[in-house]
Amino acid sequence: MTNQSSRRPVLRFAPSPTGHLHLGHALSAFENERWAAASGGRLLLRIEDIDVTRCRPDFVEALLEDLAWLDLSFERPPRRQSEHFADYAQALDRLAARGLTYRSYASRAEIAAATAKADHPRDPDGTPLYPRAALAALDDPATRNAAEPFALRLDMAKAAALAPALFWREQAAPQRAEFETVPAMPERWGDVVLARKEFPASYHLAVVVDDALQGVSHIVRGRDLYHATGLHRLLQTLLGLPEPTYHHHALILGADGEKLSKSARSTSLRALRADGVTPAQIRQMARS
Ligand code: GLU
Repeated sequence: MTNQSSRRPVLRFAPSPTGHLHLGHALSAFENERWAAASGGRLLLRIEDIDVTRCRPDFVEALLEDLAWLDLSFERPPRRQSEHFADYAQALDRLAARGLTYRSYASRAEIAAATAKADHPRDPDGTPLYPRAALAALDDPATRNAAEPFALRLDMAKAAALAPALFWREQAAPQRAEFETVPAMPERWGDVVLARKEFPASYHLAVVVDDALQGVSHIVRGRDLYHATGLHRLLQTLLGLPEPTYHHHALILGADGEKLSKSARSTSLRALRADGVTPAQIRQMARS
């Protein structure tokens, strides 16, 4: 790794084709383009279509068209997660070989019943932490039929013991650092799902595996993924992968003060384009 090109920063824009791109995605793509240009870095595109229950090929076509319309160019071809299931299976096997995963058979209803108390702790996405002890009898493989579907979960207690340096307390954010060290605090995610019957890897696992395989060195993404970064750093440590540096940009909020959603047609790039908005105006809107 001594030649000049291997030291060039590598950035990526990684949309999920579960809907049409909106202004928030445009901002993220422009931010990656800006950082890549400023650092002489490479700019990659990754289609995060791992969740086959929610991603659609027509959204992939639409997003490629939207990015071309915005005159954003990425190295070709883009990586599509749906073409790399074997990579995620290999990472899962490595975690399993270290005893860091377990099968969880409890149904959604059983989990909901076990986590119904108002004060049950939740992860940063609002999902109740998995009550492993309360559901231990249900999750005992000895009581299960081998054909039953299960989710593969991360054993966070074991992970914490293996990567103690990551389990820091929250620190004040550095004042002016553009790329930041995110306090990991991965325990706030509990025993997250890493894979399920319907999809071979969770977003968290796939993103970490892909960033490493693609040599991504600088991750520029929205503030909404700030807490996910702690979990990603833990997975990188457990899998022995290099740690990229992170920059989380501000989010564009809708008139209601909430982050933009893919279902809100009004801010989709297609709708704006149909209304006669130009790519140059989108660049301005995304930055203002
Ligand atoms: N695919 C994720 C999303 O569209 C972004 C992943 C990332 O940037 O790490 O929200």
